[in-house]
Amino acid sequence: MKIDIRSLSEDKLCEFFENKGFESYRGKQVYEWIWKKSSHTFDNMTNISKEVRLMLHENFVINHIEVDKIQKSSDGTIKNAVKLFDDYTVESVLIPTEDRTTACVSSQVGCSLDCNFCATSKLKRMRNLNPDEIYDQVVTINKQSLQYFNRPLSNIVFMGMGEPLMNYNNLVKSIEMISSDKGLNISQKRIVVSTSGIPKMIKKLADENLKVNLALSLHSAIEVTRNKIMPFSSKFPLDDISESLEYWYTKTKRKITFEYIVWKNINDSIEDINALVNYCKSIPSKVNLIEYNSIGDSQFESASNNMINLYKSILEKNRITVTVRRSRGKDIDAACGQLANKQ
Ligand code: SAH
Repeated sequence: MKIDIRSLSEDKLCEFFENKGFESYRGKQVYEWIWKKSSHTFDNMTNISKEVRLMLHENFVINHIEVDKIQKSSDGTIKNAVKLFDDYTVESVLIPTEDRTTACVSSQVGCSLDCNFCATSKLKRMRNLNPDEIYDQVVTINKQSLQYFNRPLSNIVFMGMGEPLMNYNNLVKSIEMISSDKGLNISQKRIVVSTSGIPKMIKKLADENLKVNLALSLHSAIEVTRNKIMPFSSKFPLDDISESLEYWYTKTKRKITFEYIVWKNINDSIEDINALVNYCKSIPSKVNLIEYNSIGDSQFESASNNMINLYKSILEKNRITVTVRRSRGKDIDAACGQLANKQ
């Protein structure tokens, strides 16, 4: 079987050319085509001779994503269903605001985890995305941002389908290519990795010396409640998570963002708020209160605005930075937790 050429590092590609008796710099040229210029075929590599292109054809394929369907929300949000080389589909979302364009990208086909309130978790994890498949989602949304909003993409969040830290190596490789001047050259500071909280992997990411930001999907600072809504987390106690976050902060000096949905009868008591305040105090952090997007499960219902405001005011009284995230793209099932390949 032919190899996906983007699974090779630049050095390996240069080595390939040397072994075939060509100048090694040919490897650098091809590398530029497949990453920076996002070429999906060998035929348009104009500075490469026909003979060499034929040789590439014989040895490699260029796997790439294909936008299968585009849906536009009345609020400007664009959702792409993208087809992978093996016919699986994932979704990625372009979210425009006044001054930025954010790409929300997927890291797995389906998801390894089992958060009860998330539509993606109903799809089992089929496979991890390759670095080039993550990269291609960003390239696609960057093009759309230029086309529809006349400006390049400004931010990237790993908040699409999947748990990025369960696809660790490919996540890191994709971040390196997105931020490299041999790739998209987007600053790592504009990237947020969102995780449900896997302590060992949080520490590993802290050791990576990347400049990315970390968001943690907390949703409850009370162990039994969290374990009920996110069953997998019984393996990862809140104390272990906070220890890994302390490690993250010591290493990176960057504050953690806690993502937090407020539901009726689940985490809408004073006890819940106090637990969150205490948890936040142990780690340099801020809180992002997220509006719940219904996935048609009656067990979960968004708390009232009053309750969300109460959370906000108590957090603020305790000098914890808090923002409220209103959802975008709900009419096309493009909002947080709604990505489930419905189309
Ligand atoms: N697995 C990662 C990234 C994907 S989920 C993580 O858990 O962080 C991205 C964010 O959407 C998470 O904060 C998640 O908790 C949130 N989310 C999931 N389902 C949601 C829903 N129905 N409404 C609002 N947010 C949801």
